[in-house]
Amino acid sequence: MQSAIWNVVSSSVKPSNLIRCNKGALAVFHHRHYSTTHDADLVVIGSGPGGYVAAIKAAQLGLKTVCIEKEPTLGGTCLNVGCIPSKALLNNSHFYHMAHSGDLASRGISVENVKLDLEKFMGQKVNAVKALTGGIAQLFKKNKVTLISGHGKITGNNQVTALKPDGSSEVVNTKNILIATGSEVTPFPGIEIDEEQIVSSTGALSLKEVPKRLVVIGAGVIGLELGSVWSRLGADVTAVEFLNSIGGVGIDGEVAKSFQKILTKQGLKFKLGTKVTGAQKSGGIIKVSIEDVKNPDKKEELECEVLLVCVGRRPYTENLGLEEMGIERDQRGRIPVNSHFQTVIPNIHAIGDCIHGPMLAHKAEDEGIVCVEGIKGGPVHIDYNCVPSVIYTHPEVGWVGRTEEDLKSEGIDYKIGKFPFMANSRAKTNNDTDGFVKVLSDKATDRILGTHIIGSTAGELINEAVLAQEYGASAEDIARVCHAHPTCAEALREANLAAYFGKPINF
Ligand SMILES: Cc1cc2nc3c(=O)[nH]c(=O)nc-3n(C[C@H](O)[C@H](O)[C@H](O)COP(=O)(O)OP(=O)(O)OC[C@H]3O[C@@H](n4cnc5c(N)ncnc54)[C@H](O)[C@@H]3O)c2cc1C
Repeated sequence: MQSAIWNVVSSSVKPSNLIRCNKGALAVFHHRHYSTTHDADLVVIGSGPGGYVAAIKAAQLGLKTVCIEKEPTLGGTCLNVGCIPSKALLNNSHFYHMAHSGDLASRGISVENVKLDLEKFMGQKVNAVKALTGGIAQLFKKNKVTLISGHGKITGNNQVTALKPDGSSEVVNTKNILIATGSEVTPFPGIEIDEEQIVSSTGALSLKEVPKRLVVIGAGVIGLELGSVWSRLGADVTAVEFLNSIGGVGIDGEVAKSFQKILTKQGLKFKLGTKVTGAQKSGGIIKVSIEDVKNPDKKEELECEVLLVCVGRRPYTENLGLEEMGIERDQRGRIPVNSHFQTVIPNIHAIGDCIHGPMLAHKAEDEGIVCVEGIKGGPVHIDYNCVPSVIYTHPEVGWVGRTEEDLKSEGIDYKIGKFPFMANSRAKTNNDTDGFVKVLSDKATDRILGTHIIGSTAGELINEAVLAQEYGASAEDIARVCHAHPTCAEALREANLAAYFGKPINF
């Protein structure tokens, strides 16, 4: 049956009211098939950090912008089940650990009878998520971005249809389309996630009690962050990793080794060069079968109360209409785009986790901004070598640019400047001295090629290194910039001094 179509001026007009006012009983009869239409300059599908930032920027640039989101709250993976809730849990579990492990007592602050109220603990996370997702709705209103709830499907070069759970739909005719549909958890073949005992990162953000034993499949960024949370709260955590190092793609080898040592000291256990071959639930226990990657005869079984499957994420492009539009995906399910984020159909763009590049919120945001600037005729450029990565454990790990391994394989002559937090006055006064800063600079030109930080403030410090690298700074540039004292940032300065001059001052 053909859908009845009415033009509505504002999406704030409730379609059901519209049916009753304008079309009477016949329209009510057609309730599940009606659709409404809008006109827009840009329709953004998805309101994650890529989509919502792009939508706001587009509206600020004068484009009549509609954002379609299928979930009840805005903000995508990042705000709902990613960056934000995980950081809330990391922050609070760190406080708990400091009180519980005797760290506070060693500073002369005695707290007795330290107890975990997991419900309240989770409550703070929920509040942070609620405030931030609600904040996006406010920003949409402020910037006049029209929000449509529903599953966005591309139904023509210039048309997106928002499909509603009740079977109705809204059609938006538009000059441009931006796909920002993000990613989803990659399943592990043969292991079914129930989000209670066998969980993905989403379930691991909301466990109802601290498991006695937690096995994590994958010692990448998310596995280490969530493993740290539950280890600090009292779980016995073992991370099983196929590779021979932890921290995922792009981490400097020396940093990864030091990181593993520090986390091991904190109580996390690692089984590297090991693969999981299966998992069986039996009563309240899960038996996880593992084997050595190099020597498959070396098999073992681990037992745990909760198994966290953390083997990565894959692009989410379900029922988006790509096949119908002739937009093919690559072998990893990503949408191929050119340097202007255009798909094979020039007015249909894609950004964020559903295209190539690191799956990071700030990468998605930056792509969203330059993409809509490009639609308005502006220049489009992102230097992916200047996109930082951070692991928010304690200490944190942050890096930008090339690793030592990259430089060796590319045959680039480089200098190394290193400075330990043990010799940094602020880290010392904070009694928080694990880690170091490592700067890699071009041997001939002194230009900074990469910065790698492991230390409790690495996630903040790395931004100075990103700025320097974006502007093509030399190690000497940072070394000659006045840094406030006492700050951990002085360690970054000293590492740059060591890179360009050969010697730092305080070590
Ligand atoms: C546990 C965890 C921790 C993380 N921590 C960090 C971190 O600390 N820092 C960092 O940079 N990154 C982190 N990430 C990664 C980060 O969340 C993603 O890189 C980021 O969210 C990608 O943004 P996006 O806009 O591309 O997609 P998403 O955030 O996935 O948003 C996509 C949105 O599109 C919607 N959507 C999809 N299809 C449709 C459709 N057809 N119609 C309508 N709506 C649709 C989805 O519902 C979703 O809201 C973390 C991820 C996880 C899982």
